[in-house]
Amino acid sequence: MRRLPIYFLIDVSESMVGEPIAQVEKGLETIIQDLRTDPRAQETVYISIVVFAGKAKTIMPLQEINNFYPPKFPIGSGTSLTAGLRHLSDELDANIVRTTQDTKGDWKPIIFLLTDGVPTDDTSSAITRWKHKWQRSSNLVAVTLGNNSDTALLSQLSENIISVEDSQPGAFKAFFDWVTASIKVSSTAIEDKGTDFELAPIRDKGMSPIDLAKAVAEERAVDDNYIVLTGKCMNVGRPYLIKYKRQDRISDLAGMNINTGGYHLVGGFPITEEYFDLSDGLGTGQQVNTNMLSGTPSCPCCANPYSFALCQCGGLHCMDNSGSAQCPWCNNIGHYNASGGGLSVERSQG
Ligand SMILES: [Zn+2]
Ligand SMILES: [Zn+2]
Repeated sequence: MRRLPIYFLIDVSESMVGEPIAQVEKGLETIIQDLRTDPRAQETVYISIVVFAGKAKTIMPLQEINNFYPPKFPIGSGTSLTAGLRHLSDELDANIVRTTQDTKGDWKPIIFLLTDGVPTDDTSSAITRWKHKWQRSSNLVAVTLGNNSDTALLSQLSENIISVEDSQPGAFKAFFDWVTASIKVSSTAIEDKGTDFELAPIRDKGMSPIDLAKAVAEERAVDDNYIVLTGKCMNVGRPYLIKYKRQDRISDLAGMNINTGGYHLVGGFPITEEYFDLSDGLGTGQQVNTNMLSGTPSCPCCANPYSFALCQCGGLHCMDNSGSAQCPWCNNIGHYNASGGGLSVERSQG
């Protein structure tokens, strides 16, 4: 039986923390459950999951769906599409059985690339390698979450770019149902029509194909829709992220339209130590003034009431009511005053 390999290449940069990554986890679980009830898919479909942030990693090697146990997704810093594409190319080189004169190899792999932001690195050499090695021997579908992706860049990888409006209720579910339907039609088309790639029609709310003629190039190294800050719990030493979402508010000030909006708290999220393995360690060097941010959560890792103590080393950590704490980043013991004015903290890459 010839395999139909399906690869998910998923952006796990900081802006994905919280609801988006939870939706991806749930969505993949549903896809697997659904495909297990489809005899054709059960026979042919093999699935693998690769994640990328500043670095890339295989969190699920290629395997048949009956052996597939849906993984928990890590979060990292940065959006290195280069690292993601290189890692995926290596995986394909190592795992895909090519067709030779004597044997029929695997069907062309189908790749779903899911990203919510603009790459934080130069992708040109990785894209050149991709075009040379895998573009014609695979079918890649690029999926953008929200409105902050670089569609002009993604159009170099694929003619199929789908936009999912992640703020719209039900959009994630509609999207994952569509992925399942596309995998099913592709696995059926193999035997019935001898082709190995077909996408299900898009008719759901919150999803639309992107018109490549209108795609515009972006030049942004950080994600503007979100501000994400990285902290560490002083009690358990575990990292956490504090995520803010931009909310525009246009005010009319003496006849001039001025944006007086800011960034509002989405929440605090504990993350795993894998964060440091998946991060490029570059940082953004961009400072955020806390006056732009509204709301601070308690520590998402322990019972401490504050998650926003800023050490002299620049590290953000949690704190209790005592006013003194040992910084889990640099181990200095410091005394902290409540700050009246704005503090400057380095923002993460998103
Ligand atoms: Zn804590
Ligand atoms: Zn410190």
